[in-house]
Amino acid sequence: MTAIQPKTDTTAIVVRNPADGRVVGTVPIETSEAVAAKARELRLFQPEWAALGPRGRKRWLLKYQDWVLDNAEHIIDVVQSETGKTRADASGEPANTASLLDYWAGHAEQFLTDEHPRSFNPLAMTKKLTTTYRPYPVVGVITPWNFPFLMPGLDLVPALAAGAAVLLKPSEVTPLSAVEFVRGWTEIGAPPVLALATGYGATGAAVIANADFVQFTGSTATGRKVAVACAERLLPYSLELGGKDPALVLADADLDRAANGIAWGGMFNSGQVCVSVERVYVEAPVYDEFVAKLTANVRRLRQGQDDRTFAFDVGALATSAQRDIVQRHVDGAVAAGARVVTGGKPTGTGTFFEPTVLVDVDHSMACMTEETFGPTLPVVKVADEAEAIRLANDSVYGLSATVWTGDKERGERIARQLDVGAVNINDVLSNAFACDVPMGGWKQSGVGARWGGAAGVLKYCRPQAITSPRVPTQSKELLWYPTARRRVKFALGLLRASAARGVRRFGVAPRAAR
Ligand code: NAD
Repeated sequence: MTAIQPKTDTTAIVVRNPADGRVVGTVPIETSEAVAAKARELRLFQPEWAALGPRGRKRWLLKYQDWVLDNAEHIIDVVQSETGKTRADASGEPANTASLLDYWAGHAEQFLTDEHPRSFNPLAMTKKLTTTYRPYPVVGVITPWNFPFLMPGLDLVPALAAGAAVLLKPSEVTPLSAVEFVRGWTEIGAPPVLALATGYGATGAAVIANADFVQFTGSTATGRKVAVACAERLLPYSLELGGKDPALVLADADLDRAANGIAWGGMFNSGQVCVSVERVYVEAPVYDEFVAKLTANVRRLRQGQDDRTFAFDVGALATSAQRDIVQRHVDGAVAAGARVVTGGKPTGTGTFFEPTVLVDVDHSMACMTEETFGPTLPVVKVADEAEAIRLANDSVYGLSATVWTGDKERGERIARQLDVGAVNINDVLSNAFACDVPMGGWKQSGVGARWGGAAGVLKYCRPQAITSPRVPTQSKELLWYPTARRRVKFALGLLRASAARGVRRFGVAPRAAR
């Protein structure tokens, strides 16, 4: 779906700005041999990186954070050049990456600290127990095109903080931002534990063939292929996939805030956000007023290519294929009886599609069931809260949702009935700024999750158990050979006593079992 040119050239990808068709760069198509060679080199340097420990790695991550902040304007230029985003949409990418570097560099030491639980089982009570976390040597990070600088940062930063080396495969649509990402790492003189593999799906497949853990973000269709390839190698993986996120607007909501938030949540990044609002359910008593406010908000959005001026609200779509999907969803809905209240067609320039609000839609339409990933907001009138919840859950996806209500407790109660990985109450996208909580999709929106405090680093590690004696040892343990009834009875008696609930089961086994 993401091909941007006929694959006539087998050695290079020519990258174009989708807003105006200009050629903005070229990257090589890495062969599977080249990818394997990069992975081998990462394996050489990863042990030293791991040996630096979280404090040593923190120094490099913070030096890289400085580089990101110092080069932010240039990074934003590159992001805009290959995505056609507005300045505002592109500006968050380096800033959020810098924030993630701060978080994982600052917390990794605490998250990776060995644990020493006391044993529950009396037969292990004489042991010092340790759980230690050792990184996967090479983590493959495969990313999509919607946030080409930030998206690698979401996942490879905690992987590096864990002590893994990372092989990054960016989208063929937007590889230039990833080139910048890795250039910065090299420029600060950091250990060579971050490598780039550019190319199409075959290059991604080569990354899987050479990695020890795969972190994939992209469409559900490709995610399924990635899962199969990982299963073949018995590789652990984590998948962040597509979504069809519902917004539930209840009659007691602050309708101005809901209409402002949903306009932004649906149109930010031209709707090309995994957790953007893709469908809206509104309680009947406020439906007309809400639709009027939302339509007014969407109608006044300014659309265009603004370079560094911040003159526009909504930019281009990343590919013409993406624009065609949006058009198919809108045209299909209209053909089945939906009404366009604003927008509804391509602007005719580049890949721009007008910010669109649709009404009279239902779940027989692709715009309500398939991921659109574009600037459309289909709105449905529902009788009550129960119908809103039922329709919100009627989806193969389960990424995130928003609930708009004047009663926060009601919002939390509804959140717990929604089958999604995250719910934002009276806000949109807020969980995407909070790496302290997990960001993961349910159902066909993903497997596993990114972030979630300690879990965000520990997912890139293999937990290892170590036991060692806490008390002076004898020449034999109780259960070692030769078998002796007295010792076996004593050892297992201890276990039985500790597991017994009540005196009747404390001492000896019932007669029938002896
Ligand atoms: P895509 O699935 O087409 O491509 C994603 C990446 O996979 C690209 O780098 C591509 O080259 C690579 N790839 C393709 N075939 C492969 C294969 N067989 N093996 C390994 N890698 C392969 O996705 P896209 O169109 O680039 O991105 C848009 C999708 O990403 C949307 O569905 C969106 O919802 C999703 N997304 C999800 C999240 C999330 O956190 N859940 C975030 C951003 C985007």
